Amino acid sequence: MLQSLEIELTKTKKQQPPAEQLGFGNYYTDHMFIMNYEDGKGWNTPRIVPYQPIVLDPAAKVFHYGQTIFEGLKAYKTDDGRVLLFRPHKNIQRMNRSNERLSVPELIIDDAIEALKQLLAVDQNWIPTAPGTSLYIRPFIIATQPQLGVAPSTHYQFIIIMSPVGAYYTEGVNPVKIFVESEYVRSVKGGVGEAKTAGNYAAGLKAQEIAKEKGYSQVLWLDGVHRKYIEEVGSMNVFFKINGIVHTPALNGSILDGVTRNSIIQLLNHWNITVEERPITIEELYEANRKGELEEAFGTGTAAVISPIGELNWQGEVLVINEGRTGELSKKLYDTLTGIQMGKIADPFGWMV
Ligand code: PMP
Repeated sequence: MLQSLEIELTKTKKQQPPAEQLGFGNYYTDHMFIMNYEDGKGWNTPRIVPYQPIVLDPAAKVFHYGQTIFEGLKAYKTDDGRVLLFRPHKNIQRMNRSNERLSVPELIIDDAIEALKQLLAVDQNWIPTAPGTSLYIRPFIIATQPQLGVAPSTHYQFIIIMSPVGAYYTEGVNPVKIFVESEYVRSVKGGVGEAKTAGNYAAGLKAQEIAKEKGYSQVLWLDGVHRKYIEEVGSMNVFFKINGIVHTPALNGSILDGVTRNSIIQLLNHWNITVEERPITIEELYEANRKGELEEAFGTGTAAVISPIGELNWQGEVLVINEGRTGELSKKLYDTLTGIQMGKIADPFGWMV
């Protein structure tokens, strides 16, 4: 399929912003990848074209019924000029699981990886090299059939755009304050929490907004049935170090299976640190803290890699973790994972492509 890839290069290259100005998701590279799907024809006409607006019929199903899925991963440029992707197969496999859940046609994994590589080859001069910076890659699929019946679309577009992003931490890895959300929920088992689909993020905005007003950077999501089991923190998976053992909520159908989560578990196993994946209640976390056993807490995700939690507020009861400082294990995990990603530390797992 990708053998028929057509490449149209831009005639007007954009000015690249300086590293300090990047932030997250504010600038896009010169080109994008796009491929169509039609029932009966499958995925077709793969092309790389100058970055540009897409024209859709206002009746396109994506606007009305949210039939869309996306991914997020990063490319890095090493000091010796190699371009590295972190575990891209994991993202494309997850993309297909999201597709399956949202009745979107599956991608051929090797074709999607090839599309990533080809686009990266065209725009590799957009990968920033300042410490902590990277090229964020956003593949996504939208349902384009202009038809208002509630049924899976017959037409789709698979698009990849790329955005140079700045260092997440400009003054070292800093712990954040988190509000434990007891009213709104992100997802429920049987719903679409396991899928990376737009509606999950739209549904989370309200709680995030309220938490921000109260002076918290994000929310800790509890389960939708009992409002007692810990699920995720913002759009990150969450880990707790209690009495020397690392605990993380088990994947239960409403939690996103994070690539960083999986990598952290493998790293901890590699270091012979016990990791327990199990249901964790918010009460037991507060109880562990009362006993002086809660040592560290952190979120994990592609954007920040590790985001230490310094404080929780659950129904007015404030819990300070590790005196609000970044824990030793959080720091070691951050340094190791970012070191592997930047090609500075040997990759014993074969993660880098
Ligand atoms: N949970 C949610 C809801 C997310 O959106 C993300 C970001 N993709 C994660 C967890 C972390 O996943 P990953 O480590 O693959 O970025």
